[in-house]
Amino acid sequence: MGPELSVVIPVFNEEANLGLLYSRLKHTLDALQVSYEILFVDDGSRDASLAILRNLAAVDPCVRAIELARNFGHQVAISAGLDHARGKGVIVMDADLQDPPEVLPQFIAKWREGHDVVYAIREQRKENMFKRAAYAVFYRLLQRVANIEIPLDAGDFCIMDRRVVELLTSMPERNRFVRGIRSWVGLSQVGLAYERQARNAGRPKFTFTRLVRLALDGLVSFSYLPLRVITMLGLTVSFVSLVLALFYALKKLTVGLNPPGFATLIVAIFFLAGMQLITIGVIGEYVGRIFEEVKRRPLYVVRRTSDGQG
Ligand code: UDP
Ligand code: MG
Repeated sequence: MGPELSVVIPVFNEEANLGLLYSRLKHTLDALQVSYEILFVDDGSRDASLAILRNLAAVDPCVRAIELARNFGHQVAISAGLDHARGKGVIVMDADLQDPPEVLPQFIAKWREGHDVVYAIREQRKENMFKRAAYAVFYRLLQRVANIEIPLDAGDFCIMDRRVVELLTSMPERNRFVRGIRSWVGLSQVGLAYERQARNAGRPKFTFTRLVRLALDGLVSFSYLPLRVITMLGLTVSFVSLVLALFYALKKLTVGLNPPGFATLIVAIFFLAGMQLITIGVIGEYVGRIFEEVKRRPLYVVRRTSDGQG
């Protein structure tokens, strides 16, 4: 029999946070007086994190550690955690204490009221202005273009009912944008506002390019808008060329044609070549994802689990 709660925590080089995280989490969970497991997913850490996790798993029977064979990325680490979680309610949180364990009782209370997903809404971010602005733009864009409704400013921090977890783990797709597929499920979902803390120690693992990649994943896997945009673009350019053709024909018939300038030509060629490359790029984003999906490789490789399973 599984415990009442599972807490899934992806860990990548978090040696400086694990001790504090564990003690704060333990304190919060013990106060709830329910059975629980803390499931750390080591995403190929290269620092002492792994040793710390092994140690925690050895001394505390509530702790399980899943070691991935290399760094597979945050979203995949979460998926691995969900696959291994056994609780009736499954919590997903970051290891850097940006998601404070102390708010968990509120999440659990909401879940017990019968909601299938209770996700955190980041009220105030403690990140720099640029990053905040980028996030704000991204979430609003996604909201507008996605085929499903992905709530604004909702991160991965959440509690999900067993039912939802089972749906997520049965989804075959390799491109994991957890908060997207989580909303896709539907059922009863509510947001809970909390104050996103600053990272406790260490540096964020998400560089700018990785965030851009995550954003692209979100956009491409949940909307056809980029494809529609290029179709519209093609139509517009064709229309403009038709108007131009008419204009030059009329000009030839009336005032006579003087040869058009080199500059116009070169600009037109560059413009169209640019458009075509962008178009191929957009299609490529989708084709690449199709390629990724049809290969049907496993999502991740587990090197070892603390309980010797999986
Ligand atoms: N993480 C991971 N694999 C990665 C990158 C990050 O498991 O390749 C974990 C990391 O240890 C942390 C969480 O994902 O628990 C969020 O990472 P981070 O704090 O760097 O992201 P941010 O808060 O900037 O979104
Ligand atoms: Mg963080």
